[in-house]
Amino acid sequence: MPTVNFDELRQYIDISKGAEQLLSKSEKEITFSLNLYKSDGEILEASTYVIYANVARGPAKGGIRVAPSVTLEETRDLAERMVWKTALSGIPFGGGKSGICLDPKEITRFEKTAMMKEYVHMISLELMSGTYIPAPDLGTGPHDMAVIYGETHLLESVTGKPPRVGGLPGRKEATGRGVAHTAELALTKLLGRKLAGSTVAVQGFGNVGSWTCYFLHKAGAKVVAVSNEYGGIYDEKGLDIEALMSHVRTSPRIEEFGGDTVTNEELLELKVDALVPAAIENQITKDNASAIQAKVIVEGANGPTTKDADAILADRGVLVIPDILANCGGVVASYVEWRKAKSGSITDAKETYQTLMDRIDIGFEQVTSTAKAKKVPHRTAAEILAVFEVIEAMKDRGWV
Ligand code: NAD
Repeated sequence: MPTVNFDELRQYIDISKGAEQLLSKSEKEITFSLNLYKSDGEILEASTYVIYANVARGPAKGGIRVAPSVTLEETRDLAERMVWKTALSGIPFGGGKSGICLDPKEITRFEKTAMMKEYVHMISLELMSGTYIPAPDLGTGPHDMAVIYGETHLLESVTGKPPRVGGLPGRKEATGRGVAHTAELALTKLLGRKLAGSTVAVQGFGNVGSWTCYFLHKAGAKVVAVSNEYGGIYDEKGLDIEALMSHVRTSPRIEEFGGDTVTNEELLELKVDALVPAAIENQITKDNASAIQAKVIVEGANGPTTKDADAILADRGVLVIPDILANCGGVVASYVEWRKAKSGSITDAKETYQTLMDRIDIGFEQVTSTAKAKKVPHRTAAEILAVFEVIEAMKDRGWV
């Protein structure tokens, strides 16, 4: 099912039946099994999906998710979100995604590396031709991207690599840097508050969540609550984020850091200025939307708010800055890394951050003014802009 409602968007932009038809299904889906014969005689097996949602605007760009909950439907959904995200941020990519159904915590680093090599083997034509360009997502990181590069020998075939292996300084932190910047824009420009002293709760303390906390904390915001899959902690005076980051490097259990504990459910309902869901999808639903006390939700994760919840939040006047705007920093930095690989230029973290903040500033301004002009929530405004761009590109290519 598409992540956007074409009937709703048709009130604002021209969406032909043909365009809706093309945008309602993936362009290409590759399904296979990754198999590894282990030394104990067992076969490690993982159902794997590589989706091209739409490539009208450029090659399919999107991360590789490795998690036991991965499904074909989830991978399709995430690939489609990449189509809108790349269009809204104005970078020359389409949308894609990979999903590998496997628990990374249950396998050794050696087994993970072997599985990533097998993944490259299975889609080597896609990777070598540059039609699909992966990056990290839940359960993958720079090491896995370095393994992919090691197999393709093509720097531009994958982004999110470690800086010493053709990667981009600042890429690892980029999504969180962008989420923090979006939160600042929402708090200052939409709510008329100062970032310094504003209170924030962040669900998820992995790549996106931890760097979001780091940059918000550095800019003077009070990150009062943080959680991950094991639980969370709360401190009304604000948490010491750098100390917490070094704690999770040795123990994933956040509650062992000390202080008051909160559950994930409680964290979402805290009285804070901004709430940043930065873990997994479907966290804010019709069951808890009425209890959300934050003034603004900044979506660090992909799809953390359900459609039912969106309606309740809109009625209650809670602002939602959608994922396709708030977490686009990662893919914008990926674009800078890809451009650097293609050109052989040298780029520093300052330039990476500047490019992503510029794209977010432009996107935020366009989404805010569209929301105001059309009297729609920010998510609908973002979708109006993104879907328009993709349909125009499809027209340029003679697809519709
Ligand atoms: P990650 O694996 O680095 O971190 C995920 C975090 O979520 C961990 O702290 C984990 O413990 C926590 N978590 C998992 N299940 C949870 C649960 N049930 N309740 C609470 N916390 C839970 O992943 P990431 O790269 O930070 O990605 C997080 C989200 O951001 C995903 O939705 C991903 O698609 C999205 N995203 C990531 C990037 C990126 O550059 N990595 C870019 C854009 C969007």
